[in-house]
Amino acid sequence: MSAKIIDGKKIAAATLANIKENLTASGYVPKLAIILVGNDDASTIYVRNKQKSAVTAGIATELYHLADTTSQEEILELLDKCNQDSSINGIIVQLPLPAHLNTNEIINRISPLKDVDGFHPYNTGLLHNNEEPYFVAATPLGIMTMLKTVIKNLSGKNVVLIGASLIVGRPLATLLLNQECTVTITHIHTKNIKDLTSKADVLVAACGVANMVKKDWIKNDAILIDVGINRENGKLCGDIDFADVKEKAFAITPVPGGVGPMTVAMLLQNTYRAYLLQHDML
Ligand code: NAD
Repeated sequence: MSAKIIDGKKIAAATLANIKENLTASGYVPKLAIILVGNDDASTIYVRNKQKSAVTAGIATELYHLADTTSQEEILELLDKCNQDSSINGIIVQLPLPAHLNTNEIINRISPLKDVDGFHPYNTGLLHNNEEPYFVAATPLGIMTMLKTVIKNLSGKNVVLIGASLIVGRPLATLLLNQECTVTITHIHTKNIKDLTSKADVLVAACGVANMVKKDWIKNDAILIDVGINRENGKLCGDIDFADVKEKAFAITPVPGGVGPMTVAMLLQNTYRAYLLQHDML
């Protein structure tokens, strides 16, 4: 039997519609400040998608598009200004930043109460301690939301992650551990990855290697989450070879239309949450 498709596009659209409905009823218009440094093609597309979805959700955006020569000090000053501006509820800095900039120092300058990407150590620290952070990073949050549509109880499940980045693998591992999963995090230096992935009830691929995961990497009836965004022969594809695994898996997220739209929807959900938190409504 063919795997169930976890339709991220549909869940994301429902999330945006729900935010819009709540905002229309309340008359609130949260605002997201987006800081984009330079003209990286992928970053420019991601920012445009965020702005488009914000319109759908009824959230305002303010784009600060800075030259790739902008200094560390100038960005820190802009962040201080955005932190103090009460009309701005959420702040994101589109990553990656040009090499001359210190990303950690920049992320750490965002007020934790406006850190809607959930990357500030205050928020990641609370997550680590299994306490409720102001915000959880959008991609892992979207994955948890999608998992809930196909599995009621994650407790005791064997989950393997491919990729240990700060924006996907690490926060996701913590969220899953907090749900009592047994989590294995693998990365570029992991030996015999296939031996680990083939025992996974849930496998999340977030390594950026086109179609790496084949059917002999997975267990029968596994749930597969494909985070990768790759281009092969001019076509978008994930880290999981969809055509190869689809008869063996229980459920799978497609690329495109899976994790990508969910990430944007969760960012906007976080921005709405920021508004409520800052107005003592949560
Ligand atoms: P990253 O480069 O920061 O991290 C990649 C991770 O994968 C590292 O831990 C690395 O060790 C591991 N890795 C790389 N090659 C590997 C291999 N051959 N075997 C095992 N592990 C390997 O990347 P990232 O920012 O986490 O992004 C990963 C992928 O997910 C990219 O394709 C990116 O475009 C995509 N992504 C998608 C979304 C979305 O919303 N859909 C969000 C974030 C990232």
